[in-house]
Amino acid sequence: MMAAKGNAFSVMMNAQKRKLADGAAKTAAQPAKKGHWSMGLLSSMEDPALKVDSDDKVVIIKDKYPKARYHWLVLPKENISSLKAVSAKQLDLLKHMHKKGQELIDKTEDAKHLSFRLGYHAIPSMSHLHLHVISQDFDSPCLKHKKHWNSFTTDYFIDSTDVMEELEKEGKIADKGSRNERLKDPLRCHVCKKEQVNMPKLKAHILSHIPKPGDKK
Ligand code: AMP
Ligand code: ZN
Repeated sequence: MMAAKGNAFSVMMNAQKRKLADGAAKTAAQPAKKGHWSMGLLSSMEDPALKVDSDDKVVIIKDKYPKARYHWLVLPKENISSLKAVSAKQLDLLKHMHKKGQELIDKTEDAKHLSFRLGYHAIPSMSHLHLHVISQDFDSPCLKHKKHWNSFTTDYFIDSTDVMEELEKEGKIADKGSRNERLKDPLRCHVCKKEQVNMPKLKAHILSHIPKPGDKK
């Protein structure tokens, strides 16, 4: 029974990979390479080294290039390319994705002192809907560029609660393409809001804000 379910999931994933490859081929006007980078999340959903949890509706993986001490992605098993493709009938699924992310935070000992956010990027780079669950220390060697920083600390990062509220009220998620401009914003500390001259200075500065075990949030 379990094996049949697993096979059905793999069949769905392979069909989705083919569909994405076809789409990429159309935009690039040349055959899409197998394993195109934008399809990476689909492979990672099946990678035991990255998989943290799953149920009948979602898979949770570690972000392969974490931008903080804790950075997970919650992905639906249902074939949904991005928030653009989400409709009112998926509200319960989005609520479930949020709940699973929050459960993972609650199970994390360091969450007693570290804050977390759950949200979506306005313009995702990777195919397949994914909810970021990320601790707010941003203490990671993978966080290198201004684009990385601004994608998690400006309104390019949309809180999952706001997404669910918009979907409940409007029945869809409006295009957030104009938020691309936020990636060019000046570098600003997400805690004290002081502007920083460059990434090395910003990275050194934010270390001073990271709470230690025993600190209260
Ligand atoms: P987004 O900008 O919302 O599309 O973010 C995609 C996220 O996926 C980033 O945080 C990347 O670090 C992460 N990522 C990229 N490739 C992979 C992969 N193959 N497996 C897991 N995570 C990935
Ligand atoms: Zn600061």
